[in-house]
Amino acid sequence: MSGRKGVFSDAQWPENPEVLHLAQRSDACRVLGPGLRAVLWVQGCPFRCPGCVAPEMQPFAGGQEVKVSQLAEQICQLAAIEGITFSGGEPMAQAAALAHLVDLIRSARDLSVMCYTGYTLEQLQAQGTPTQKALLERIDILVDGPFIASRQTNLRWRGSDNQKVHFLTPRYRHLAEQVNERGYWLEFEQNPDGTIRWMGIPPPGFRQAFERAMARQGVKLLQPETSVGTAPTSRRKTPIGLPPRKGGPLPEHFYHRKSRIRNTSKGMVFLSFE
Ligand code: SF4
Repeated sequence: MSGRKGVFSDAQWPENPEVLHLAQRSDACRVLGPGLRAVLWVQGCPFRCPGCVAPEMQPFAGGQEVKVSQLAEQICQLAAIEGITFSGGEPMAQAAALAHLVDLIRSARDLSVMCYTGYTLEQLQAQGTPTQKALLERIDILVDGPFIASRQTNLRWRGSDNQKVHFLTPRYRHLAEQVNERGYWLEFEQNPDGTIRWMGIPPPGFRQAFERAMARQGVKLLQPETSVGTAPTSRRKTPIGLPPRKGGPLPEHFYHRKSRIRNTSKGMVFLSFE
């Protein structure tokens, strides 16, 4: 690679360490990395993998422009998290902003950093731009490689089995065995404004089934402001049946492996877990 656009890259955002183009954000997620984490899904990805679960995050247009300094402050206030995960979209396409974000956060708190990328570690090490290499130096866990639909897998934290989990620092090397576990780890987040969002790496067809089931009961799926496709966030207009629980409201965050979804009569979506 030459220049700062990176291997395989086409259009990209102008490199700016002060501004991040963000597609979505969660302040509490347990399925995309160790422990409780904030997750940033960045907007824009040059890879265009067939079967990508978040095609609306591919265009280098749309999303929300956020000031890195403000984002760092907000993340530092999340007392319960042990780290932050970058996903997307392609984090390495906004390496300058993310590296700066990590520096600002770590000047206040020693949070761990996990990052997904469609590049391989070898590509980044050999051909990465200075800012991509700078981000790489700040990452504890890198999950690398593009999603390949024909190699779809249920290995922890990965969408296809060409992707590797690299422990770039000693911080999480004790988890080396755990990442060979199989299952589907999904988390559903119910927000105060009535939106529900799922997070994690789903089994084949999950997103489509979820969105169809929601649509069948009249739940309108929100479109991201200026992106294509549908967002993994939906506005709840009717009651939704959630996993059978004895009393008590739906917890703000819950998760389980091997989730399945089926439609029931009476217009309820039923998320079942095994
Ligand atoms: S690298 Fe990830 S975000 Fe980009 S197209 Fe592939 S699966 Fe989608």
